[in-house]
This record gives sequence, structure tokens and C-alpha cells, in this order.
Amino acid sequence: MFEDILAYLSSKQVQLIAVSKTHPDTAIMKLYQKNQRAFGENKVQELVGKYERLPKNINWHFIGHLQRNKVKYIAPFIDTIHSIDSLKILKEISKEALKNQRVIKCLIQVKIAKEDEKFGIAPLELTDFFQVVQNDKLEGIKIIGLMGMATFTDDLDQIQYEFNWLQKLFAEVKNSFFKKDEDFKEISMGMSGDYKMAVECGSTMVRIGSLLFGERNYQ
Ligand SMILES: *Cc1c(COP(=O)(O)O)cnc(C)c1O
Repeated sequence: MFEDILAYLSSKQVQLIAVSKTHPDTAIMKLYQKNQRAFGENKVQELVGKYERLPKNINWHFIGHLQRNKVKYIAPFIDTIHSIDSLKILKEISKEALKNQRVIKCLIQVKIAKEDEKFGIAPLELTDFFQVVQNDKLEGIKIIGLMGMATFTDDLDQIQYEFNWLQKLFAEVKNSFFKKDEDFKEISMGMSGDYKMAVECGSTMVRIGSLLFGERNYQ
């Protein structure tokens, strides 16, 4: 399964983030031994434990809602944070990154789904958000793109609509704020159930969990 997914993604030049949340170290090491280096986690405590126990050349991606008071625990080692959903959290990451003399890659999460419980910046607020970010010139962070999650539904048209929407928003933000910034190039979208559609809609990073590791017992 891993090999098939990887072959497909490589042919499209899309990066695989293996979402290992809730799964044991041994499961991560199985993919690590097949050269997978990017793993995604959504709980700070679980991630810190895995970071301490596992090889130090793993690139850890944080994909869950992040609380401000917990940024300090992951700032020393986190590679990329996909789930920036406020200016406050971005500023905190900047502060902690500077303390650790690091640059942390960040993606801004956009709320493209219909469900109320999903996090992210509302599409209509994106321009204001990036305007402030541009003025603040925060150090210690590098904004590399946008992240989104589609509505949890069987309606493929709805999912496709939302993914296309995120790609369009990416193009607008790129054009308005990152025209000359070559690092702003990522669209993190697509999970186990919808990653092929996400790739067709322009995803550059897919976050796949259950398809690689099996079903989770808890979220
Ligand atoms: C759990 C999770 C995934 C992976 O979900 P699967 O359906 O298991 O592939 C992707 N993105 C985020 C933000 C997640 O929390």
C-alpha cells in the first residue's frame, strides 16, 4: 500500500506526510525503514514523546489545533506546522522559534469545510490576515503555503469544490502577498479518502493516516 501511494504521489511530485497519530513507534519505524521521513501528529504530548524516542532525522509535521501555551514544547524540533489559525498562534511560534534560533515552516489553515467545528481562517478574512502578517515581519517563521480540510461527506462534488476553492485562494494570496517568494508554494490538502482528488486539484502535500497505518482506535 505504502509503495503504491508513494509511486502515485512521486509521479505527481506531491509530498507524503504520513499521519502517525495514535499509532505506536514500531509503526513509524516500519515506514522510516522504507525511507519515509515526514510524519504528522496532532497532539503535543504524543508528538514530544515520539520525538524523544525516535530517530532525530525525522521531519515532524504538526497538523492539529495548537494551543499557545504548548508551542514551547515543540518549537525546539518541529519542522512544519500546518494548522496556523490565528495571528496569536503565529506570533507565539515566531517568539519560540527565535528563542531556539530556528526557522519553523508554517502553513495557514483555511476553513473551506461546511462544518462548524473545523478550525481555520475564514476565506473572507484571508486578505486582512496576510496584510497584518506582511506588516508585522515576524522572524523565526517561514510561511510556505495554505492548508485545508474538506467537509466530511460522501459528496465528491462538494469535496472537489472545496479543494478547487483552496487552490484558487492560494493563487490569490500568492499573487497579492508572495509574488516573489519562492518558498510560498505549498497546498496541504488531501487525506486517506480524498487524496487523489486533492492531487488533481493542485495539492502539493497530502496528509495520509489510516490508509498507511490502519484504522485508529481514537482521534
Ligand atoms: C488525522 C488527520 C489526517 C489523516 O486522516 P486519515 O483519514 O487517517 O488519512 C489528515 N489531516 C489532519 C489534519 C488530521 O487530523
